[in-house]
Amino acid sequence: MALVNEHFLKLPNNYLFADITKKVNAFRVMNPKADVLSLGIGDVTQPLCPVVVEAIHRAADELATAESFRGYGPEQGYDFLREAILKNDFLPRGIHLDIDEIFINDGAKSDTGNIQELIRWDNSIGVTDPVYPVYIDSNAMIGRAGIKGDDGRWSNVVYLPCNAENGFVPQLPDRRVDVIYLCYPNNPTGTVISKNELRKWVNYALKNDTLIFYDAAYEAYIQDPDIPHSIYEIRGARKCAIEFHSYSKTAGFTGVRCGYTIVPKELTAATLQGERIPLNPLWNRRQSTKFNGTSYISQRAAEAIYTPEGRQQVNATIAYYMQNAQKMLTTFRALGYECYGGENAPYIWLRTPNGTGSWQFFEELLYGANVVCTPGVGFGPSGEGYVRFTAFGTHERTEEALDRIARWAAQ
Ligand SMILES: *Cc1c(COP(=O)(O)O)cnc(C)c1O
Repeated sequence: MALVNEHFLKLPNNYLFADITKKVNAFRVMNPKADVLSLGIGDVTQPLCPVVVEAIHRAADELATAESFRGYGPEQGYDFLREAILKNDFLPRGIHLDIDEIFINDGAKSDTGNIQELIRWDNSIGVTDPVYPVYIDSNAMIGRAGIKGDDGRWSNVVYLPCNAENGFVPQLPDRRVDVIYLCYPNNPTGTVISKNELRKWVNYALKNDTLIFYDAAYEAYIQDPDIPHSIYEIRGARKCAIEFHSYSKTAGFTGVRCGYTIVPKELTAATLQGERIPLNPLWNRRQSTKFNGTSYISQRAAEAIYTPEGRQQVNATIAYYMQNAQKMLTTFRALGYECYGGENAPYIWLRTPNGTGSWQFFEELLYGANVVCTPGVGFGPSGEGYVRFTAFGTHERTEEALDRIARWAAQ
């Protein structure tokens, strides 16, 4: 008899976005003529930039002849891309990485989910709350998160609340935690962490022998020059942190699939006997065993982003989304809403008025303005009383949604 991994049964049945779709569909059945505008799901809308499209065509042509055909590539990724990352994303910030510390992935979701394979099942984990659900669910799948209580909290997870009261910067935990997940700029709140605040986390990690998993998927949206793009801008971080990057939001690669993970060679974790084991060779072993590399075409597409034209084109798309964010902030604030984020990230985190519940506000907005947002509570208990809006829409749809919200709010 094959026994199932029962940890999967502890996961909530419905994924947040499935719940949202269900409610939107119910609305559509009753209001078939309504044009529902979504500022909900975090997917991009603008096409790939021209240099990326050209690189994809060129790579496809290379694969079309026996002379230039390529089969399996290195599991860690091609050096042409790893070198471009090193030179463009890290050297200008004074971070010197070895090429073997860069692992090309097929998007950051896979690696933020997979990385927990490197640590024992009984490590304690801490997450900011609200949180990108992958961090908890991937741990729940092997039993590390414990069981989910009626209050929405997992028994073995330390929640670090992020709310307006603490400026969305979590307090250091009052006990030791083995592993901490941090995501900045943050999804879902759109808020950022300063170098000083991040330094506190690195120091906590060094002092407590804690491992930090740092998700920098929205790093390209940072506008403020004082906000760190990488945790390795903080001294000592190489000894305690793994960092994840993605081209999904940077360059519209949600469908192309490519990103990278940094596992520094100085980073170690302990055996029960106290021996220090470097994690870089372990991750290399894991990837060589379970991953056959990101597609050549995607890696060439990513490389193109680092050309001068590529940078300029990618920045133009980011600026396009950030114009949406700016308009959203201006409109919401003029309507009297309290909102956060949206300045260095494509998300706006809006506090629902008068303590309205997240789901109730979601429904009121759907039925009143035919606009979809994401209920904050879907990202964790501290998200209750907030909703998330994304700036990834087109200008036209975003403006239309804002007009409708303004008319609805004025009623
Ligand atoms: C979108 C996103 C990612 C990136 O996912 P990909 O698999 O690279 O598309 C990673 N982390 C967070 C928090 C995200 O929102």
